[in-house]
Amino acid sequence: MDLKLDFSILKTLTELPGIAGRENAVRQYLKNLLSAYADDMRTDVTGNLIVYKKGSSDKNLLFCAHMDEVGLMVHHVDERGFLRFVTVGGIDPRTLLAQRVRVQTREGELPGVIGTKPAHITTEADRGKAVGVKELFIDIGLSGEEAKKRVEAGDWAVLDRSCEELGDGLVCAKALDNRAGVFVLAEIVRALKNPFYNVYAVFTVQEEVGLRGAATAAFGVDADVSLCLDTTGAADIPGCAPQDYITVLGGGAGITALDARTITNPVLFEKLKQICDKNGIRRQVRVAPRGGNDAGAVHLSKTGIPTCGLSIPTRNIHSNVEIVSKADVADVFRLAYAAAQEGLGDITL
Ligand SMILES: [Zn+2]
Repeated sequence: MDLKLDFSILKTLTELPGIAGRENAVRQYLKNLLSAYADDMRTDVTGNLIVYKKGSSDKNLLFCAHMDEVGLMVHHVDERGFLRFVTVGGIDPRTLLAQRVRVQTREGELPGVIGTKPAHITTEADRGKAVGVKELFIDIGLSGEEAKKRVEAGDWAVLDRSCEELGDGLVCAKALDNRAGVFVLAEIVRALKNPFYNVYAVFTVQEEVGLRGAATAAFGVDADVSLCLDTTGAADIPGCAPQDYITVLGGGAGITALDARTITNPVLFEKLKQICDKNGIRRQVRVAPRGGNDAGAVHLSKTGIPTCGLSIPTRNIHSNVEIVSKADVADVFRLAYAAAQEGLGDITL
């Protein structure tokens, strides 16, 4: 298995805007990227992009990777042109202070910043306190009249951050959750040649607000087995104890044993570990009692689908400085690719 990943695609993917329910730019990019490699491609009612590649058996493998990122939606434009917003998906307001954003309007993008009271006018009691979303606003530098003309409730915003290489083989960007998983799945579609399974590569919507796209996608595909590609927290940082790391950056592909939504079928779990060991793919087991991903919705679809979440360790997850390791991304790719190409064998309990 000597397959090179084109990380320029990951950079492009992270810089596209696409909060939950507003994934169009990502979907359009993937359609263009993958149409030459697909035996069939369609978008379902919910917005999931379903890319099909025919295999050599009569078994179906459902891959999921969610396109959406966490972000902001405007709910009010005030008299002086400041935008008030709600968060879409789980964002810690501490990570929003003093950030640049790109507001998506019907006429295109507007740059803005998230304003904060400067230190000079905060009181002693305010200082060092966490700030709530209600105390934050987006400043787009326009008068009230002009702002109301150009922005309305329902417009949305993403954090503004270009994708940069960092340190030794790391990538730092916004939306690596889950454009890193999307990238892996796109590269699998591009690399597979006559795989064992009929592969349904589904780029799902609205994962960050409750696995909504995956629920309809899984219902629409008769899957024998499913692998969900997503990022997961790597809490290997100062202030966290080793037993709370969940995963370690640079430690290889995360294979989920348990998270808040799923306990992986034990036969499938063992098969995936065996594929890693046979192919020299570095792996770590993910036990994340507070996390969840598309696997949570997929494994309960219809009469049940054996499903495992394959995870890319990510530091600072759900912020605009998420960090992944290119080596981990490659490990998840090699594991998922091998599973699709060679098959997983009998996974009945
Ligand atoms: Zn995710």
